[in-house]
Amino acid sequence: MFKPVLVTGASSGIGEATAVYLAHKGFRVFAAARRAAALETLSGMGAGRIHPVTLDVTDEASIAEATATIAEEAGGPLYGLVNNAGVAVAGPVEQVPGEEWRRQFETNVIGLVQMTQAILPQMRAANQGRIINIGSVAGRIVAPFMGPYGASKHAVEGVTDALRRELVGTGLRVSLIRPGFINTHFGEQEQDSLARYMGEDSPYRDHLHKFAKWHERKHPSAAPATVVAEAVHKALTAARPHSRYTVPSSFLGFLALRNLMPSAVVDRVFGRITGVE
Ligand code: NDP
Repeated sequence: MFKPVLVTGASSGIGEATAVYLAHKGFRVFAAARRAAALETLSGMGAGRIHPVTLDVTDEASIAEATATIAEEAGGPLYGLVNNAGVAVAGPVEQVPGEEWRRQFETNVIGLVQMTQAILPQMRAANQGRIINIGSVAGRIVAPFMGPYGASKHAVEGVTDALRRELVGTGLRVSLIRPGFINTHFGEQEQDSLARYMGEDSPYRDHLHKFAKWHERKHPSAAPATVVAEAVHKALTAARPHSRYTVPSSFLGFLALRNLMPSAVVDRVFGRITGVE
């Protein structure tokens, strides 16, 4: 009862839904993000079992401070770490500046790795615990103009596979959740990012417009964040958690297409559905 878990990126979207869901399911949840005010609203939810923690996963001092605060409040090792914090940088590979690529990888990849390094030793000492990384369907198949984001989620797949295999023989388990489109504000961030490259002089202008038009309809009509929260709960509680959970399951067909069909065919399908052809 009340096993302690840490959810990063819990001030909105999937992280917030996951924090509330897990608290209602009997976990004690440390809900972490940069925006302390947004986290405060969570304190009154989840049967009083949600504890807000200010955390920037790209800042080592912040990670150390948050880890110390949680250790003091939890009074024992964490049972679960849900590496959910993420940002999306979109745009043509040719044009997105290096600093934006770095920002993408600093949060989605290095941040995830440094959080894992901060929490894993206490789980290892207890010889039990679950690490759950939030990847993406984009970690297997990348749409045009989603290069920085897709590349970061491909890296998350690699990190997760390595870690899972390194922890073989211990009581620790590692799972990756691959959400498809989910109805959060993430889509707005991606649209803002795409808009930066639509200037008159951009060689990608027409294709970007078509892609952005297709993309803007996706998040608002997508599955709710609770489908991801349910998958996280399964990964935390199953006796033998899966290595990967793809949610909603309708995206499995898309991944099968990527795995089974030649790239030329997949490219044509992408072109047809996004208008980039
Ligand atoms: P949101 O933008 O709603 O949530 C992102 C969260 O990450 C926020 O709570 C934000 O909080 C936090 N965050 C961002 N940067 C940092 C940082 N440096 N340190 C700590 N926290 C940070 O988007 P979603 O809920 O949709 O996304 C959550 C995860 O799900 C991401 O990893 C995303 O890649 C993944 N995902 C989302 C999909 C979707 O369609 N929505 C599909 C596939 C995967 P704050 O700004 O307060 O720090």
